[in-house]
Amino acid sequence: MESYRELVDALTVPVYEVRGNFKNMAATEVDFLHACVGLSTEAGELLDVAKKILFYGQSMDEHRENIREELGDLIFYLELACAAMSTDTDSMKAKNKTKLLTRYSSGRFSKQEAKCRLDKSLDAPDPAMVQDSDGSFEI
Ligand SMILES: [Mg+2]
Repeated sequence: MESYRELVDALTVPVYEVRGNFKNMAATEVDFLHACVGLSTEAGELLDVAKKILFYGQSMDEHRENIREELGDLIFYLELACAAMSTDTDSMKAKNKTKLLTRYSSGRFSKQEAKCRLDKSLDAPDPAMVQDSDGSFEI
């Protein structure tokens, strides 16, 4: 590779392939993609508020309404993602609770348990991962 730009070009999926992917996407896949983009952009908007508070010395109170608006926007896209996955936020909360109580067995945060991530160990593989015959895991 001559330049970094050439590397980027070589590693980028060709546009005609991406367009083909969109044409073949199911409605739920389009909704899921929409939700993922929305979650990311709304999280960025929330982070912008945090920047103003943390680095520009503005108060949380003066941004309270905007924070609520951005949290609402995040909930909107979270609901859309859950609908695309044929699930709901209550199921996701229950699954997340199980994961966190596996990670933090005392029910309280500890740096040691955060580092160990017991819920990610091979004894408790992520259900989204499939184990190959050689013992390795693939998503
Ligand atoms: Mg917003």
